Amino acid sequence: MDNITALGGDVYEIDTRMAGYSGITAGYLILGDRPCLVETGTSTSAPVVRDALASLGVGPEDLATVVVTHIHLDHAGGVGDIARFFPSAQVVVHEKGARHLADPARLMASARMVWGDRLDTLFGELSPTESERIVALGDTGAIDLGNGRTLSSHYSPGHAKHHVGLVDSATGDLYVGDAAGVYLPETGDLRPATPPPDFDLQTALDSIALFGALGPRRLLFSHYGPVDAVQETLDRSAEELRVWVDLTRQAHSEGMDLDHAVAMVRDRTKERYTALKADDPTAEHFELLSGAPSNVAGILHWLDRVSP
Ligand SMILES: [Zn+2]
Repeated sequence: MDNITALGGDVYEIDTRMAGYSGITAGYLILGDRPCLVETGTSTSAPVVRDALASLGVGPEDLATVVVTHIHLDHAGGVGDIARFFPSAQVVVHEKGARHLADPARLMASARMVWGDRLDTLFGELSPTESERIVALGDTGAIDLGNGRTLSSHYSPGHAKHHVGLVDSATGDLYVGDAAGVYLPETGDLRPATPPPDFDLQTALDSIALFGALGPRRLLFSHYGPVDAVQETLDRSAEELRVWVDLTRQAHSEGMDLDHAVAMVRDRTKERYTALKADDPTAEHFELLSGAPSNVAGILHWLDRVSP
């Protein structure tokens, strides 16, 4: 299938075709004795992901584990559907996200407030998963991939309070979720993802430092794809956070409202990104996944908490 890319080490990148787009949201299959899907993508992507797994030889009874880096709908919106398609799979998530996968009503209500009618076209509805199938992770945890291979989880809040990074013992791959920002493979651009209500600068920087300390050999971005230049990229992730926070703090101290703050930060950061400078169509991916309104709103929300 043309939406599957072999990355080596029995790892396959699956383009989930989120909302019909290519190359914006990836799931990953780690194949082996106990096949593991990292990130489901959205609910509307679930049939695409199921078909990709089938073409890789993973049938309904074969998937051992589904794990999500966090429960935002572009990463975990398909958990209920995938759990139904693969009835033997356990669902693994940080303990702060577990109850929302079992009972998504509150999560869906707040997502509906943020996204309005666009919720249906972008994500669809997260359906519930039986709580007996959910395994909750603490600060660290381990997923058995079979044959002595493990995927270890590391709590990494800042982007979201229910976020984990995952390290594959066989490949040294680190699944970064959204904690290191959004990466555009077409241009090499990297932009932070700082949405409300959980964003916290120091916590986010600490998580990026933790990722560096884990010594991964490669980063796998959910948005989007593999990156080999690990430390350079993590340094860039931290720098991006500081730039966006500094500019938003300036707007905040000048008493700007959200619309003016967004316009100012968007304008003052534009030169940093090849896709935006060149009016490249992939710039649209930034706006969908880490839009300036969402990023600035998240930083303002945090500033109001720490320095009202
Ligand atoms: Zn997220």
